[in-house]
Amino acid sequence: HHYNLIAWLHEVLDRFEMMVKDKNIEFVRKLPTYPVRIEIDRDKMTQVIDNIISNAIKYSPDGGTITVGTDLHEDGATIFVKDEGMGIPRENQHKIFQRFYRVDKARARNLGGTGLGLAIAKEMVEAHGGTIGVSSELRQGTMITIQLPYTSIYEESRWEE
Ligand code: ATP
Ligand code: MG
Repeated sequence: HHYNLIAWLHEVLDRFEMMVKDKNIEFVRKLPTYPVRIEIDRDKMTQVIDNIISNAIKYSPDGGTITVGTDLHEDGATIFVKDEGMGIPRENQHKIFQRFYRVDKARARNLGGTGLGLAIAKEMVEAHGGTIGVSSELRQGTMITIQLPYTSIYEESRWEE
């Protein structure tokens, strides 16, 4: 199904703003004012973005800012979630999409979770014909980017028949 990517992101962010009222986290939205049509499995992509924003909250200090925005291209959209949290050491960055991988056993134990969230996110984004990536600086913050084509591979494969 096709959805308006921007309206969907606003809905997700409204829900998170309600949830973290007492953690003193500020959400900044860098979203266009016009609608952007995209073909996604809404439930699955909601699960993906929920995990990424939950991570940003979980690994951010009180008073941090989380920026969620889009970059629009001719053939697809990039969604980014940027935090000002503890960051991920360069040598560990490529592993965070592996099942059960957690960067630091000690901090992971305190913060809870299974280390599956980003592995599932990667599977779901790739099933949409997209890619997921990370850029992070230790003690500065982390940015997760999801690139999605406007029309998913499902429709393309129907086309080939
Ligand atoms: P789960 O999502 O299953 O509850 P989790 O959050 O630990 O557990 P993932 O979402 O897969 O697992 O993330 C894997 C690891 O990557 C995390 O344990 C954490 O060490 C690191 N990580 C993910 N997002 C961030 C972030 N925004 N800032 C710092 N570290 C992060
Ligand atoms: Mg997680």
